[in-house]
Amino acid sequence: MLNIIIFGPPGAGKGTQSEFIKEKYNLTYISTGQILREEMAAETEIGLKVKEIISKGGLASDEIVAAIIDKFIASHADANGFLFDGYPRTVKQAEILEDLFKKYNICLSGVLSLEVPEDILVERMLERGKTSGRADDNIESIRYRFVEYDNKTKPVLDFYQQKNALHAINGVGTIEEIFGKICNVIDKI
Ligand code: UDP
Ligand code: MG
Repeated sequence: MLNIIIFGPPGAGKGTQSEFIKEKYNLTYISTGQILREEMAAETEIGLKVKEIISKGGLASDEIVAAIIDKFIASHADANGFLFDGYPRTVKQAEILEDLFKKYNICLSGVLSLEVPEDILVERMLERGKTSGRADDNIESIRYRFVEYDNKTKPVLDFYQQKNALHAINGVGTIEEIFGKICNVIDKI
C-alpha cells in the first residue's frame, strides 16, 4: 500500500502532478486546499471561518485542517492508499498526521518534494490567476503565501528528512518530464 505526500511551494505543480499520480497508482487523493475552497464556496461554518485568511494567502488553523483530514481518512477506510496534496503545511500538522497514521494504521511511503525557483512559481500563479478565479492568485496574496511557506511550511522538509522519507524532485520542465521523474521515485519506494 502506497501512502504519499506531495510537497512543494505554492505553484510547484502539486495539483497537476497529483492528477496523474492518483490515476497511475490508484490512490485516493486528498487536497486540503481544494476541500477548503469547496467549504468556502458552500459558505459552511468552516468556509466562513477561513475565507479571509485564505484570500490573503495565510494558512487555515492546524485544528481545522486536522479535523478535515481525520474525517476524510475515516470515511475512506477502503482506500488502496492515499495521496496527500498540500498537507501537512506546518510541523504541528506533520505531528498530528503521524498520530492520525497510527490511529488508522497507515504507513507513510514517502514525501515527494517538488523544487521550483520562486520567479517561475510567481509567473505560473499569475498565469493561473487569469482563469482560476482563485481569490489568492493575485500578487499580494502570492507574496504572502511565500512568506507563510518560508516561515511555517519549509520546516516540514526537515521533519521528513530526519525520518529519511524525503525525495527531492526538480519541478522545472514539462508536465510529462516531471511526471516521469516522479514515477521513477515512486517505483523505488
Ligand atoms: N490551505 C491551508 N491549509 C491547507 C491547504 C490549503 O491553509 O492544508 C490554504 C492556504 O491559504 C493556501 C490555500 O489554501 O494558500 C491554497 O492551497 P492549495 O494547496 O490549493 O494551493 P497551492 O499551494 O497548491 O497553490
Ligand atoms: Mg495546489
